[in-house]
Amino acid sequence: MQHFPIYLNLANRSVVLAGSGEMALAKLRLLARTPARLTLLAPDAEPGLAGLAAQSGATLLPRALEPADLDGAALVYAATGDAAEDARIARLGRAAGVLVNIVDNLEGSDFITPAIVDRAPVTVAIGTEGAAPVLARAIKTDLEARLPEGLGILARAGKQFRHAAEALPYGRPRREFWAEYYFGTGPQVMEAAGGELLDHALQSLLQEHLARGSRAGRVDLVGAGPGAADLMTLRARKLLDRADVVIHDGLVPQPILDLARREALFIAVGKQGFGPSTPQEQIIALMVEHARAGAHVVRLKGGDPAIFGRLDEETGALSAAGIDWAVTPGITAASAAAASIGASLTRRGRNQALHLLTAQDVDGLAEQDWKTLAQPDAVAAIYMGKRAARFVQGRLLMHGADPATPVTVVANASRAEQRILALRIETLAAGMAEAELQGPALILLGVAPAAVAADMPRLLAEMG
Ligand code: SAH
Repeated sequence: MQHFPIYLNLANRSVVLAGSGEMALAKLRLLARTPARLTLLAPDAEPGLAGLAAQSGATLLPRALEPADLDGAALVYAATGDAAEDARIARLGRAAGVLVNIVDNLEGSDFITPAIVDRAPVTVAIGTEGAAPVLARAIKTDLEARLPEGLGILARAGKQFRHAAEALPYGRPRREFWAEYYFGTGPQVMEAAGGELLDHALQSLLQEHLARGSRAGRVDLVGAGPGAADLMTLRARKLLDRADVVIHDGLVPQPILDLARREALFIAVGKQGFGPSTPQEQIIALMVEHARAGAHVVRLKGGDPAIFGRLDEETGALSAAGIDWAVTPGITAASAAAASIGASLTRRGRNQALHLLTAQDVDGLAEQDWKTLAQPDAVAAIYMGKRAARFVQGRLLMHGADPATPVTVVANASRAEQRILALRIETLAAGMAEAELQGPALILLGVAPAAVAADMPRLLAEMG
């Protein structure tokens, strides 16, 4: 984003435009919709341009631009069509500290004018930094068709009413009021009776919403999946889109958090591996506090909330506090890791069971039914196993596992930094130590990567 989009307030500002032909006319048309004081320098104005200047109250000066014309100006547009003259204007503009645009000259300009969809006060600016004007126009056409003509009227009436709407509590109650106005009541009233009745409609809608009283908040415990934003469920995305408060683990990457509303309150409760962590009681206290205040809380957890996510502790506490909650599942790390190596976690005739284990528990390294896991065809997904590789390896061998049993480690499954280590029980600890994996990693016992042709050289290299 080399060009940063902002909206410039042009009330009581002066904008200078130099040029006599088509290009100047196009810019004047646009600028005439703003309240700016316009000065047009046109030594040889074509009739259409002179007409529009008169009509829009612009000051038309039939001469070339002089330095004094730029005094106090906010912007200057050079649209003379003469490269040397445009460059002269640009130099004068910069000397005067005025932002310069040379029409159709990206490099020579300090700012560029986007394609604009105008439903003021709702305006959409579309820019491609000069890369694809055709694309910008196509997007504009698409939006023009999609945004109703009356949107501006709707938004102006809404703007007038903002203060009155503050009678509703901030957050969900107010948001729901506006959503109903913009997507329901507003357009209906406009269509049936026109813009004059919008204020009346807003009044009665507000009374109705005030009468609803304060709503109870709720908590959705949502699985964010393994990390790739497109591996989230649609329901998870919808809930994020509505959340007032998002309480998330360290495992949830930024692109997923970006799917939530920008105004939402984000609270990171980094229970990341061995890093600093927020005590569970505090996480629960946060959920309860915000839900009691009427907020829609999304408790966003990596993978699936029901797998090594301390879900019961959180839902139990919510129930005890009388707060409504629901769980939205997510793709767990075991599924994502299996997918990334193209392997199945179960196979007819090989394993009838799949074990999901954690290598860590509250007391440190977790003991398991090693005898079962050491059986020839056992398959297990071992979570939180990064620091436990040597322990797992030792226990399996002690219980008679075949040292050549395949073990695949997948770090950062589904993310850009994904890494795969195709190992065997006998090489597990050394292989992991050597790889110095960053980020979450899952150990798949009894599973080897499917021979994906493209990946073979790398896999062979990693196997050593
Ligand atoms: N609820 C999560 C698991 C939380 S426990 C889920 O269903 O996936 C945290 C462990 O999950 C990590 O130590 C790691 O073993 C595993 N994990 C989570 N995301 C992962 C990913 N993208 N790649 C590999 N392992 C991951």
